[in-house]
Amino acid sequence: MIPISVVRFGDEEERRVLEVLRSGRIAQGPVVEEFEARFAELTGVRHAVAVNNGTTSLVAALTALDLRPGEEVVTSPFTFIATINAILEAGATVRFADISPDDFNVTAGSLAAAITDRTRVLMPVHLYGQIADMVSIARLANENGLMIVEDAAQSHGAAQGERKAGSFGIGSFSFYATKNLTTGEGGVITTDDDALAERLRIMRNQGMRARYEYVMAGHNYRMTDLQAALVVPQLDRYPAALKSRRRNAEKLCEGLAGVAGLVAPREIPGRSHVWHQYTIRVTSDASVDRDELSARLTEAGVGNGIYYPKLVVDYASYQDRDDVVIEEYPVARRIAGEVLSLPVHPELSDDDVHHIVSSVRSIMGAE
Ligand SMILES: *Cc1c(COP(=O)(O)O)cnc(C)c1O
Repeated sequence: MIPISVVRFGDEEERRVLEVLRSGRIAQGPVVEEFEARFAELTGVRHAVAVNNGTTSLVAALTALDLRPGEEVVTSPFTFIATINAILEAGATVRFADISPDDFNVTAGSLAAAITDRTRVLMPVHLYGQIADMVSIARLANENGLMIVEDAAQSHGAAQGERKAGSFGIGSFSFYATKNLTTGEGGVITTDDDALAERLRIMRNQGMRARYEYVMAGHNYRMTDLQAALVVPQLDRYPAALKSRRRNAEKLCEGLAGVAGLVAPREIPGRSHVWHQYTIRVTSDASVDRDELSARLTEAGVGNGIYYPKLVVDYASYQDRDDVVIEEYPVARRIAGEVLSLPVHPELSDDDVHHIVSSVRSIMGAE
């Protein structure tokens, strides 16, 4: 079976983790600081604040903006459930903007249509590793006096022009096991704002500014040095891993060209894709439907995944709530029925890629 994702560590990760174990200092300490400095550099921002997971990092970023009940955060309905959970946890109302079929992300146009006089935050999700059109979204935010929180959980290092995901607004990243970079569980908030970074550092540590000086009602959102030790060596290898993801994506695109009813993903000009997922669309003119393709690929030993089979608003937990505004999202709804992610991770061999391509082609009747 070719897995949809692989978690593999090298000697350097073992060495760094062992070093932390032997130091006796395993909670948040110098290695977390080292990781934060390295990740701030990768993202091109002044500050990276590490926390215990990517959901917490969204909650912390939103909480730091002091949203009041009824104030609105506009995001994508086609995302991982954490996005909506974080907005509700932060006490805001969530409203959604439809997505584009080109990059699966919200656009400046769809966000503009969702803005009301209660809107405070625009929260694009850079899905699958492809950054949303942040230049246009930042302009829209600026014109309307809105904040931006980027859910960049899947897009470490993706860029539009020279600017990286997480540098246009407040950035939020996940380091969950299957993300492009991992600490097992982990999150990071990125910002250029010194005061905001300070506030987040205090918030994550029980509201403590100096020993026993509590300046706010805080939390324990801390990451451990054990987790940070796991990711520092991955940062050294990340450029090579991205190259390999990109090469795999290119080979898949080449191999899957010309299959009726299959729309391959593409990197939008001027924006870089870090290929967290390689997600095809199986449209209504295909010879098999998406769910059948998925099942038959599994039988052929090709791991695959549906991210995501439903819109977040489709789950009963979010219906009939005053703090969730549900409208129609025709593009997102259609696309949730079409997407299928294929393996693209750096551990794929040429034979694996060949097997993925020939399996998809043969199941879809395009040998
Ligand atoms: C993974 C993910 C999160 C949440 O991250 P966790 O570290 O799992 O809490 C949030 N948003 C998106 C889009 C994600 O993919």
